[in-house]
Formats: sequence, C-alpha cells, structure tokens
Amino acid sequence: MAIQDKTRTIPGGIAETQINPYAMMLQQLDMVREQTDIPAGIWEILRRPERALEVSVPVTRDDGTIEVFTGYRVQYSSARGPCKGGIRFHPGVTADEVKALAGWMTWKCAVVNIPYGGGKGGVICDPTRLSRGELERLTRRYTVAIFPLIGMRRDVPAPDVNTNSQTMNWIVDTAGLLSGEAVPGIVTGKSLELGGALGRREATGRGVMVAALGVLQRLGMDVTKTRVAVQGFGNVGSISAQLLAQCGARITGISDVSGAFHCPRGFEIDDVLRYVATSPGHLLAGYNGRGVEEIKSDEVLTLDVDMLIPAALEAQITARNAQDIRAKIIVEGANGPTTPEADLILGERDVIIVPDILANAGGVVCSYFEWVQNIQCFPWEEEETNQRLAQILQRSLNEVWTLAEKRGISLRLAAFVLGVERVASAIQLRGIFP
Ligand code: GLU
Repeated sequence: MAIQDKTRTIPGGIAETQINPYAMMLQQLDMVREQTDIPAGIWEILRRPERALEVSVPVTRDDGTIEVFTGYRVQYSSARGPCKGGIRFHPGVTADEVKALAGWMTWKCAVVNIPYGGGKGGVICDPTRLSRGELERLTRRYTVAIFPLIGMRRDVPAPDVNTNSQTMNWIVDTAGLLSGEAVPGIVTGKSLELGGALGRREATGRGVMVAALGVLQRLGMDVTKTRVAVQGFGNVGSISAQLLAQCGARITGISDVSGAFHCPRGFEIDDVLRYVATSPGHLLAGYNGRGVEEIKSDEVLTLDVDMLIPAALEAQITARNAQDIRAKIIVEGANGPTTPEADLILGERDVIIVPDILANAGGVVCSYFEWVQNIQCFPWEEEETNQRLAQILQRSLNEVWTLAEKRGISLRLAAFVLGVERVASAIQLRGIFP
C-alpha cells in the first residue's frame, strides 16, 4: 500500500498531501517485527482490524433538507479487553484513517497496560458547518447505527477531534433509550452529572505534561529554561500548554486551523484560553496579546524551541519539514503526527520523540478510571485520578525508556515493541477459535 496517496483539499480550505495513516501504521509494525519473534500467523492477525463497520447517517438539516453522512466504527483488537477509542468528526475522516487510529489505540492501551483492546470511530463531516441541533441529530443517528457494536464490555467510545463531553452525553442518552436501562459505562468523557470522571477533560494534556517532565528530567534539563511550541490548540494542545506553563516552561509558539502565533517572551496561556473561550469557533484567529506576532501556519513546527508538541492531526511532521525542525524533543500529543520517513530523519539528528501511544495516553488512562467508577458506581476524588494517572504514565515511560536504552532503539520502536508483544501474547494465550 502506498503511503503517499494524492493531493486533496479538505473543505475548510486546507490543502494537504494525503498520507495514508493505515499504511503508515503498517510500516511502523514492520519495524517492530524485526525486534520480536512473534510467529508469522500472529502477525497476520495484528496487521488487520477484527471488525470494521461503515454506516450511513441521514440527518435532517435545519432548513428541512436531508443530508447523508458516512461514518465508521473500527474494532481493531479485543484480545486484551473491550475495544476502546474515541469518535472524531472531521471532513478528512477516511476508512483507513479510522483503521489506523483504532490500531494505535490498541498499542496505546497495551503500552500503558490497561485492560482494553483498541477501537475508533469517525464521521466525515465539517462540524463548523453544522448547528448544535444538527450535530445532536448526527450524533444520535450515528449512535443508532453503531449501536450493535458498542457496549460497556464490548466497545467503549470517547471524545476525539471535534467531539466532547456533550457528544458523549448524547450518545449515553441515545444508547440508554435504545437499551431501556442506564448504561453510563458505554462511553467515557461524559459530563460529571452523567457519570463522568473528575479530571477527564484535562487528562490527555496532563499526560503530555507528565511525559514532557519525565524526559526533561532524564536529560537533566530545567523546565523553567524550556521553550515550547504547541501545534493545535484544542483540548490536548491548550491544556498541555497551560499545565507546562504552570510548571515554568515558556510557551513561545501556538497554532490552530485558524492561524499560528509566536511570542518569544512566552504566551500568557490563561489569557489565550480566555480569548478562545469566547472567540468565533473557539479559534485563535485575531488573538493579539503582548509581544505576539502572527506567523505562517507551518512555521509553528520549525520555531527555535527546545520542545515541540504536535497536538493536531496525523502526518504533520513529514519528510518535507523534518529537516527544518529545530526542537530537540518532540512530545506527540496528537495521534500519528510524525510519518515513518520523518521519524528516520529526526532519529539521525538525535531528536528525542516521545511517541503518541505513550505521550497522549493520559486520556484513555483516565477513561479507564471513569469506566471503573461507572462499573463500581463509586466516584473518585480528582486528586486520586491525577495521582494514579501520573503513576501509570511514569511507570510506562520508564519501561519504554529502559527498553530503548537496552536495545539501542528509538522510544517509538520500544513503545511499539512493548505494546505489540503484549497484544500478541494475549492472542496466543487465548488461542485461535475454533
Ligand atoms: N481520543 C483519545 C485518544 O486518542 C481518548 C480515547 C479514549 O479515551 O478512549 O487516545
């Protein structure tokens, strides 16, 4: 399968060279293969999703017309537990993207050793063009379409790009009506009132911060002397920036789909957060703080900083720009932001990359805590959640770092080896039915 597909334009104006994320994930798996002695037959299982569903989602628009959207839910693996992974609403969603994201969820849950397999869902749509009512109808109809697949012990969705606690609330309500009983554990990332967990909204950003601090500490670097650029200012990017700034880091670059900004003296992140809380579409466009200059959108990746946090979409760091990246540390808040080719280029330049399946695992780890609380009907204090989250991520970083050092391989390869071996072992222990 070719990695480089074709150039396409995503509604919303972003022209990009489409890199096939599933081909990208398979390439990553090929590199793991050389590091393990997993039998050939098991590899054939690991390379494909267990189940992939495509659904059509008709929605009555506010003007009375009907628009039919396409959605997906992919269950990549249930070997280690129920499938787990978010749902994204984005014009760039494809069947292969959802497959890749479901695969990455599988390795992610295994690296941090929580009892889940991996899954993912998506709907091809541009949520900025939909009213709240239209979004609600889209979400509810999509829930009905994937209802045969999801369930607390089967497959548990969560928020992802352009979805949030409100989306999860609509899903839990629709699923509850369809099943005739309360099903809080069918999704995570819900509002607190419906069984959500304290700390879940911040959890992915918090995990990014824990991973970033862990690397700085290992490299003997001082966080207060660290300059950070963050690509993406949604849930992951904004909270990572806020928490790292609270630790003393200087956030000197930020961006989102609407624009990119540079502030050499460091952004006042709380001020930026106040701005996007009320700006059109919650976007950065028009932000104008002290000492802030607007830059070209791609430039946020190549600023002169110590640490780069890509927290937007896949395939942002590619063979085209890898050479120009000046950060010595990359902490991947997004899923799949770095292509395998870019990985090689950055590896040769000794850039340290904390891979997505470890760095952004804070979200799903906290989802796991939410699910446990739903099963037990017993909510935790936020402090307990944050403490346990940090513990799991620090332990996982330690395991990955130790393996990488022992074998002389990258953190990404080490994380994949750990995750994939755990999944392979679960498959082998279960045996092949019948
Ligand atoms: N969407 C998040 C991720 O990519 C969270 C998934 C979850 O909590 O299930 O890791």
